[in-house]
Amino acid sequence: MLTLNLETAWAEFLDFVKLKQSIVEYTNWLQPIRILKSSEKGLVLGVPNIFVQEYLLENYSKEMANFFPPNNDGSLPLFFVIEEAEEEVVVEEEVSSQPLDKEPVFDLKLNRNYTFEDFIEGPSNQFVKSAAIGVAMRPGKTYNPLFIHGGVGLGKTHLLHSIGHFIHQNNKKLKIQCITTEAFINDLVEHLKSKSIDQMKRFYRTLDVLLVDDIQFLQGRQNFEEEFSQTFEALINQGKQIVITSDKPPGQLRLSERLTARMEWGLVANIGVPDLETRVAIVQHKAEKKGLNIPNPIAFFIAEHIFSNVRQLEGAINRLGAYCRMCGMDVTQELVEKTLSEMLQFVPKKRITVESILKSVASMFNVRVNDLKSTSRTKEIAFPRQVAMYLAKELINDSLVKLASNFGGKTHSTLLHSWTKIKKQMENDEKLRRQIIMTKQNLEI
Ligand code: ADP
Ligand code: MG
Repeated sequence: MLTLNLETAWAEFLDFVKLKQSIVEYTNWLQPIRILKSSEKGLVLGVPNIFVQEYLLENYSKEMANFFPPNNDGSLPLFFVIEEAEEEVVVEEEVSSQPLDKEPVFDLKLNRNYTFEDFIEGPSNQFVKSAAIGVAMRPGKTYNPLFIHGGVGLGKTHLLHSIGHFIHQNNKKLKIQCITTEAFINDLVEHLKSKSIDQMKRFYRTLDVLLVDDIQFLQGRQNFEEEFSQTFEALINQGKQIVITSDKPPGQLRLSERLTARMEWGLVANIGVPDLETRVAIVQHKAEKKGLNIPNPIAFFIAEHIFSNVRQLEGAINRLGAYCRMCGMDVTQELVEKTLSEMLQFVPKKRITVESILKSVASMFNVRVNDLKSTSRTKEIAFPRQVAMYLAKELINDSLVKLASNFGGKTHSTLLHSWTKIKKQMENDEKLRRQIIMTKQNLEI
């Protein structure tokens, strides 16, 4: 009873935060947190890194105390486990009893599940996967650095580790270091404290491959940035391979111009949200690995209703698997709806078409639908047309080429340009933002 209450309290707490926070902050900081276990003692929460835990405690301790009755000593019944660290498997290790102030030891920590074979390919990640394979086959010789960016839970860490595995399997002699930015900073702090920073520098500068995860955590930490830049340049200048992941492209990170430019030297590749077919393939692959049999229509249903993040999709399969094992049941539609109800995302029932968008935009901006479809370039027509293109890309899951053809034979790059322009303008133009919200509302009723 108590355990159920804690889980419910967590769901309610998340709902509360959702109302208070921007969707971006919520997605970045709260969404990745998973309940790993709940018992009388409290909830064990899986966090992707220490920053997420700190963020939660720094910003929400007071509010959390309202949802989770504190223990007698005032502590909250919440425990944190850093998930990626927990899953990490040491595949090569030269165990040494040397204290920290001696040479750092070489140990390659990679998640054994994160391999190229287990990375499902689709239009959203094909390019970045083939770039990653290229780098892994010829480290230092193709794209250097390779910079992979994309949203939370889309497979950046998976690809980074895949590169590490591949290189290691093909050439055991190469010195590979795969590290999160957070761990790099911690390493620096430790070595600064024990006055062994030179050893650390030497260690990093003799690497053949440096794989750095989540470089966005270097933002606002100038001293560490300086140290990282030096290591980066030393390696690049010797033709050693560097791969970096980030939640944003280099140009959008708050890092020095010099480092940003260096990071753009090689190849910058985006990893996007997988389309429906790819998501179905991911569901089936993950289920198969767990020995869980999910009938095709159900895999489809899950993929259709969990669409923004592969980590969530995986979380759903794990939950389903655990439930089926516990109760000895097969996966049925009913069971999916029951166990995954709060994870499923529902899109508006009404089908939105380019035609309905054009109608709604035309009435909002007081122009005619035919004008929007025409080639007229006058501002009064061109601007609402751009808004309609923006909405088409936002609301309709179709190819850009096909969408663009509805707007007086425009090309997909024009559509993409309009989308970027309007999206940017909305950030500062309150009137436009409201007009777009209202147009959307008209479409959805
Ligand atoms: P990110 O680092 O971008 O936040 P991760 O690499 O940690 O995301 O991926 C989150 C989870 O989703 C991992 O368990 C990973 O294996 C899985 N995943 C993401 N993309 C794919 C894919 N294309 N194929 C298979 N699994 C994937
Ligand atoms: Mg990651």
